[in-house]
Amino acid sequence: MDVYFRRAKQVLESQSLQDVVVKGEFTASSLPEGWPWAVLCGTEEVLRLLEGLPVDLYGIPEGTVFQPRAANGARVPVMGIQGRYVDFGELETSILGMLCHPSGVATRSARCKAAAEGKPLLSFGNRRMHPAISPMLDRSSYIGGCDDVASPQGAELIGKEPVGTVPHALMLLMGSDEAALRAFDALMPSSVPRIMLVDTYDDERSGALKACRTLPNLQGIRLDTPRSRRGSFRQIVQELRWEMDMQGHEKVRIIASGGLDEQQIRELSGSGVDSFAVGTSISNAPTLDFSLDLVEVDGEPMSKRGKFSGRKYPYRCPQCYQWQVSLHSDDSIVCGCGSQMEMMEVPLLKGGRRCNEPRSAKEIRDSVLRQIEDVNNI
Ligand SMILES: [Zn+2]
Repeated sequence: MDVYFRRAKQVLESQSLQDVVVKGEFTASSLPEGWPWAVLCGTEEVLRLLEGLPVDLYGIPEGTVFQPRAANGARVPVMGIQGRYVDFGELETSILGMLCHPSGVATRSARCKAAAEGKPLLSFGNRRMHPAISPMLDRSSYIGGCDDVASPQGAELIGKEPVGTVPHALMLLMGSDEAALRAFDALMPSSVPRIMLVDTYDDERSGALKACRTLPNLQGIRLDTPRSRRGSFRQIVQELRWEMDMQGHEKVRIIASGGLDEQQIRELSGSGVDSFAVGTSISNAPTLDFSLDLVEVDGEPMSKRGKFSGRKYPYRCPQCYQWQVSLHSDDSIVCGCGSQMEMMEVPLLKGGRRCNEPRSAKEIRDSVLRQIEDVNNI
């Protein structure tokens, strides 16, 4: 919490204005890096923060692919809150943080998933951020479209097993790839995929073929070639695929990692990479710039300069994903493309009580993937 909200509350109470009921809306002014759309993420955490407080909360469902501005220029409210200002005003900083960073991570993840053209995407970026937020990073990247995550806490949050191979340190400690691979295979239960990092001592080609020969049940090799050593990563992967196939290792998958971003994923598309492990690009995604603005005080529409006043309802075209904002929840709005727009708001909390059962991270992710496919087909 930021102290200025606490001071505002103290002033309101000193003026006997603590019972004034307000309506506020959470909106973004624009999206970073020219993104045409974003994925809303973090709603579940906001619900857990506000549950039990005497407020009503409503908004577009978590995982909704949205645009910040509607066709009529109004900002699209992704979430709205109604109650006494003194009951929730102090929480503004926390609520915004729970939406801004996760939505940036989920959006970047969705964009990487689209660049990967459906190939599995692994979220490996926890090391770039403070450990306290690893579970949030993992959940947000999964909701955006990553298939698996690396931290046990994050995996638990999304109901999956964490994934990972081995660090370069293991090979260095054991003196050779073969020794590390054999010891790993002997110890780990069969449920742990046999995927080996191959570029500790050797170049990618000789390391991969050596790993294939060492372990007949090898499922994949991971390339972690740093950019400075790479040359054409695409050609390295193509050569590797060819040589592995040539020697009968068609089933061994190739996992690419090492500072990959959207552009590099796109460049590797069709090269023979079977899955992508992405770290910094996802964990350090730009945050969205959501803000909370009051739009109604004591029943009267009002707003600060530059914002549209009054309680608003967000609509989306199911065909072309354009947005419109209306003062009515039952408007019949026809999109420029001719389709009937749908009202996107759902109730979240009524008097501090949940209006719906919590949705699983998988359910939210599935809806994101469907929407991303739609927006990329427009
Ligand atoms: Zn439309």
